Amino acid sequence: MSTIFSKIIAREIPAEIVYQDDQVTAFKDIHPIAPAHILIVPNREIATVNDVTPEDEQMLGHMFTVAKEIAQQMGITESGYRLLINCNQDAGQEVFHLHMHLLGGRKLGPMLARQD
Ligand code: AMP
Repeated sequence: MSTIFSKIIAREIPAEIVYQDDQVTAFKDIHPIAPAHILIVPNREIATVNDVTPEDEQMLGHMFTVAKEIAQQMGITESGYRLLINCNQDAGQEVFHLHMHLLGGRKLGPMLARQD
């Protein structure tokens, strides 16, 4: 069973793809929580951060380079942005195909809401 993100990567279902190469694909989040909200996704299906292997290290580093370049294109390098990866239930991961959120274009507030 391929993930919804694999279908986007294969262009079987529509998405606003902003970048693609042989390792990663980046597209606009369908429910953006900031003016800039891009998902950067390995083309290979990796379910969670728990599933990465040493062989993925080059590709994982490449995700950061791609994130930086997209942030530059969106004009948010100076104002700032956040890169975020959720892993499993406590982090609220919804799609089990590893992805990095690139968020920016507004003040994002503290990293986590306090519980008290
Ligand atoms: P996460 O909670 O880290 O797993 O985030 C999953 C993200 O995928 C959410 O922000 C969703 O809005 C986004 N998403 C789910 N389906 C799609 C889709 N078809 N196209 C673009 N983004 C999607």
